[in-house]
Parts: sequence; C-alpha cells; structure tokens
Amino acid sequence: MHMRCFTGACAIAALCTLGVAAQGRKTERVVIVTMDGARWQEVFGGLDESLLRDAAPTDTDLVKTAAYRRFWAATPEARREALMPFLWRTLARDGVIAGNRPRGSTVTVSNGYRFSYPGYSELLTGQAHDDVIRSNDAIRNPFPSVLQFARRKLNLPASKVATFASWGVLSSIVENKAGDTTVNAGLQPYESPSPLMKSLSLLQQETPVPWDNIRHDAYTFDFALDYLKREQPTLMLIAFDEMDDWAHDGKYELVLDALHRADHYLEVLWGALQSDAFYRGRTTLIVTADHGRGRTTGTWRRHGQSVDGADEIWLAIASPDVTMRGEWAPNSALFQNQIAATIAALLGLDYREQNPDAGRPLPVWPAASK
Ligand SMILES: [Zn+2]
Repeated sequence: MHMRCFTGACAIAALCTLGVAAQGRKTERVVIVTMDGARWQEVFGGLDESLLRDAAPTDTDLVKTAAYRRFWAATPEARREALMPFLWRTLARDGVIAGNRPRGSTVTVSNGYRFSYPGYSELLTGQAHDDVIRSNDAIRNPFPSVLQFARRKLNLPASKVATFASWGVLSSIVENKAGDTTVNAGLQPYESPSPLMKSLSLLQQETPVPWDNIRHDAYTFDFALDYLKREQPTLMLIAFDEMDDWAHDGKYELVLDALHRADHYLEVLWGALQSDAFYRGRTTLIVTADHGRGRTTGTWRRHGQSVDGADEIWLAIASPDVTMRGEWAPNSALFQNQIAATIAALLGLDYREQNPDAGRPLPVWPAASK
C-alpha cells in the first residue's frame, strides 16, 4: 500500500499536510548521520572561548592553542564556519538546520534521561520509553525501529538497511531482532573484498581507544563509505561518537577536532552521494545528535537527567523534497521523537502503521503544500 497523496484526493491526511505528493516526492534513499552529544552551542556558534579557557586560562595560553588558531573568529557565524565549513557552506545552504535556541528554533529530546541509549532509541523508534529504556547497557531494544519498518515495508534485503556506529551498544539499539538489518558497531570486524578495508578492520583492533566498546570515528566512516559504494543501501545510519567521549574526558580541543573531522566526513559522504546515480537527486541526508550536554563551564562535559541543557539538540536536513533553506524559521519547537516518522514519510511510508504513538513527521515541506 502506497502512502501517497494525490491532487485533490488524499489517502493519508497527515502526509498531505506535509505536501509529500505522489509525483512530488523525490526521496528514495535516506542517510542519517549522528554526532553523539554534539552541542548546538558549537554547531551554531563555533568555538566557545570560555570552555577553551579551562585548559588555557590566560590570554597568552589561549592564543597559543591549536584550537584557537584554527577555529577562533570574531563572530559566531565565522566561528561555526571555521569549525564546520561543510555544514555551513553547503548543507545549510542546500538544506535547513534547526536548533539555534537564541533565534527561537528548538529541537528537544522528549526522553527524561538525556543520555545515549534513550536518545538513539527515541530517534529510531519515534518514542521515549522512560519506563523501559533507562540505561546505556547493551540490552536488546524491545521496540522496533524505523530502520526495520522501512526494510519490511519496502521489501528490502537486510543488506539494504545498514548501520555503522563507533559505539558498540548501537547494535542493541537499532533493531529489536538481531539480523533484521545490517549492523557494524564498536570494534566489530568489517568484512569487505577491499584489501584496504581488510587492513583497516585488523588495524582498528590494534589502535588503542581510551574508551570501552567504542572505536575511532575514522574507522566507522571508512567502513560506512566502503559499504555505501559497494552495497548501495536504501537507508543508512552512520553514528559518530568521539565528540561525546572527548567531552566526558574534559578535552575541549579534541571535541572541536572531532566535530571538524565529522564535518569533513559529511563532505566526503555528500560527494559520494552526488557522484552515484543511485543516490544523486533522490537522497535525503539528516544530521543530528542523540542528546545535548551542559551549557556552562561547570557542566559542558556532562549530560543526563540532572544536567540543564542536555535535552537540547539540533538537526540538519538536506533533501530534494525540502525547500526550506538556511536556519529554520524562528519559534519552531521540534522534537527528537519526530525523526523516525520523518524518515518514513521521506520514503513514502506512514510510520503510524508501526507506532501510532510516535512523534509526527517534521513539517519540512511547507512549499509543496501550496
Ligand atoms: Zn555521553
């Protein structure tokens, strides 16, 4: 059954309000990129001088840091472009970005925990389940995800819906039945005919990581890109983690490095999508975070129930179906639990079939509803 709207006659009212029309919808593939605990403060404002002063208290120390030399500029707009040039010069120009709170645009997690498992689960299932999902332990998610829903509704083989994640626990979160989709997470070996990938898969085991069940984002991205080119998944999640890990360690300079690298990965990913006829002109890219973190010099390292600001996230969408450009119009209140239904709607599906209690799709198609 096709969940589509027709001029003057609408099978599914909710999709009509989004303006996803039968002929209008161009999206056939969706790629989601997550940056674990990436604060909206850096995404919209770049380097935060007060946080860098933790490690470099005097002016002399500050200007000597590599981070200051690379990412400092006089205005928030110039700083964010220095930190995430691709996000701001290309994605926000060809798409839309929400979550700039000083300008009245908010994206908020609805779960009460404000840490990773509940965040990714809310993002992928469309609903917070605070009574059930309450830890970051590697316990199988009892709720099915939009990844599984899309695979089933579109009759796709498991190879066409894929997750590549730096954090190993994602393999428990993204599907309620192991093997429903393709998952490569944590230090899991990656199998590919490519000799380079074989080497990288071995090397990741030998590259010391200061954290448990997490690999460096460079491996995650290289494996994901190899898989994308080889298998051409219809729906893909690439989940980076280092920005969160370095923040917990209090290494602000390394958080900035991780964000800058992730921005470069986005650029390479975007280039790969645009140079492949399977993806070009019919792929939506969604970039977001699982949770925010503290707002102050005392709390930016942390997130969780008791940390003010840890429920504040952001999201960017570049899509042939989304005509909004630049920063999302002010005074919009968006929620993480709307992303799953948005992914489904982009693929022509009504997520209420799987979860009637999920957040409604984001209103990202205003021009099409004219
Ligand atoms: Zn964390």
